[in-house]
Amino acid sequence: MTVTGRTDLVDAMVDALWLSLQSKYAIGDFMDSIAGKLILKRGREKPVLNRHPWIFSGAVARVVGSPVPGDVVDVMGGDGKFLARAYYNPKSQIQGRILTWDADEPIDEPFWRRRMERAIAGRAALALEPATTAYRLINAESDGLPGLVVDKYGDYLVVQCLTLGIDGRKEMLVNLLADLLQPAGIVERSDVSVRAKEGLPEVKGIAWGDAPPDDLVILENGHKFGVDLLAGHKTGLYLDQRANRTAVSHPYLVAGKEILNVFAYTGGFALYAAANGAGPIVNIDSSIEALEQAEKNVALNGWERPSDEYIAGDAFEILRYYRDEGTQFDVVILDPPKFSHSRRDVERAARGYKDLNWLALRLLRPGGLLATFSCSGRVSADLFQKIVFGAAVDAGRDAQILQRLGQSPDHPILLTFPESAYLKGLLCRVW
Ligand code: SAH
Repeated sequence: MTVTGRTDLVDAMVDALWLSLQSKYAIGDFMDSIAGKLILKRGREKPVLNRHPWIFSGAVARVVGSPVPGDVVDVMGGDGKFLARAYYNPKSQIQGRILTWDADEPIDEPFWRRRMERAIAGRAALALEPATTAYRLINAESDGLPGLVVDKYGDYLVVQCLTLGIDGRKEMLVNLLADLLQPAGIVERSDVSVRAKEGLPEVKGIAWGDAPPDDLVILENGHKFGVDLLAGHKTGLYLDQRANRTAVSHPYLVAGKEILNVFAYTGGFALYAAANGAGPIVNIDSSIEALEQAEKNVALNGWERPSDEYIAGDAFEILRYYRDEGTQFDVVILDPPKFSHSRRDVERAARGYKDLNWLALRLLRPGGLLATFSCSGRVSADLFQKIVFGAAVDAGRDAQILQRLGQSPDHPILLTFPESAYLKGLLCRVW
């Protein structure tokens, strides 16, 4: 078993904070020349001036020069004035992703290094916390690195290249990460369907260094999780829920309580609740592998919990079964996958969330807790609250919001890019 605690990687991250000041003038040998210009339609400059990082194809009046996909281009207003510098992909609806608003900032290796150092420095508090060895280091647009996601799992990094502009620079970016953080290995998990929108296939594999061991274990707030970086969901774990796992598992909320953990994956919420004295926990997920890992994680943490259950199947069906049987719980956690994938299916997604919450509300004992989440970016926090409200009215239950929940702070939301806020949740007391 490989338990990754405080390591060279962590020290390197702290150093990066200081390096970011020094390397500003370092010269690298990677340099992109400006291959052309995107001239925006008159009246379509406002989002760029407000530092939104995306240039939609509909805002582009014409392309000057002959940039090829992935090239760096200057974005000009309808009046011909410089607005920003972006990488270009005519195959995507998002034709440009802005890298800088500074006309004097070249897109060379020091540029990418500075951005990475800034993102890493933003996680310095986490790096200094030995009880947590897995978290997001680079959150794409929100960290000024559109299309690039980097997560840390102990001594290993996982990269996701979501766009063609990033994909084409992968080797340089991976080498930079290796240089900055000295990981044991870097895994690529670019097996995500959004790449199709960029004209890219799904790929995964070892991008640099060693493959992670089969028994890799990371720590989250002191809790051990076995994690498969090549086959697990996302980059291995749902790191965005870390802060919510803490919020929902306060001993005052869970000690001695019967808990239904719906969409359990490898038992994230369950492990925190178990650590804080929870009574029996029922874990539901459609993935048998995930539930097997959830059970192994309990043992990894040194617990014996013979009363816990792991039920593989469709959450909706199982909740309906419990409703019909009159089974009740003290705490229900609902952390479903994304229900909405495009603007067109928001209504259908809303109905799904409402059904799910309606069912869960029916299973709660009076005074019980509902922790309910949505990771659909298109379902806003306001809309989600309205959905849960509708479900409570229909279920005939009074519900009070104790806490509004969101994505963990290593998944920051860029103020100028509200699209980066996708995870929302409500912790409710239900009567
Ligand atoms: N709560 C988890 C993350 C859940 S992600 C954590 O803290 O780590 C969503 C999970 O829902 C995935 O594990 C996926 O396998 C599962 N899932 C997707 N559709 C499902 C369905 N219809 N019924 C049950 N589980 C489902």
